[in-house]
Amino acid sequence: MRAIVRGRVQGVGYRDAAVRQARRLGAMGWVRNEDDGSVLVHAEGLEEAVEGLLAFLREGPRGAGVDEVSVERVKVEGHEQFAVRGVSAGVFVVQEHAATARHFDLRLEVDGAMRSWAVPKGPSMDPAVKRLAVQVEDHAFAHNDFEGPTEGGGVIVWDRGHYEQGGRVAWPEALERGHAVFVLHGEKLSGGFALQRTRPGGKPQWLLIKRRDEQAAPGSDVVAEQPQSVVSGTTLDELLGGD
Ligand code: MN
Repeated sequence: MRAIVRGRVQGVGYRDAAVRQARRLGAMGWVRNEDDGSVLVHAEGLEEAVEGLLAFLREGPRGAGVDEVSVERVKVEGHEQFAVRGVSAGVFVVQEHAATARHFDLRLEVDGAMRSWAVPKGPSMDPAVKRLAVQVEDHAFAHNDFEGPTEGGGVIVWDRGHYEQGGRVAWPEALERGHAVFVLHGEKLSGGFALQRTRPGGKPQWLLIKRRDEQAAPGSDVVAEQPQSVVSGTTLDELLGGD
């Protein structure tokens, strides 16, 4: 079911209480604070768990004031967790890197390290485009801001921001299983993306795919259209001196 809860339900611990209650009951799904002050809840699982959560949502925790809960039956999405949506899971950065070959490095903060993928052609905002992403070793946070010449090449910060974890499976397990969904809030990249592992091994291969949502831009080529650094405005070509 999908429930919209209206009233004094933000800034009063309602969302966190709903998460605790859902986990106690064994309900799966998610909760998100909406811009209009309401709280949106998706719950699925055993009827007893869902009904138990709904009863809690109608009361709310102490300090909340629930005016109205409108409930709608929706399709089961197959969630394996009860998660908070709409909150940052950490930072992300995309660096364009000229080394032996030019490529982009996508890095997502996971458990205090930057998980990293080398994306030869860079990300795309077109959901029809699948970009190879080769997983490489984790990088240190300190590298996120690096921009400048390197021996035989250079690096620019092509995009950065924060991201939310999405999908039906909790992180980092989703990454371990080879299918991870996330929402980027960058200056160039935004909305849902998926990383799908296609080949495990020493250098696992993944596909980076834009999900179909409001931010998707079919037919676009964001890498060609917006080549400049989000830090300095310079392009990697300019940094390399045009050769
Ligand atoms: Mn690199």
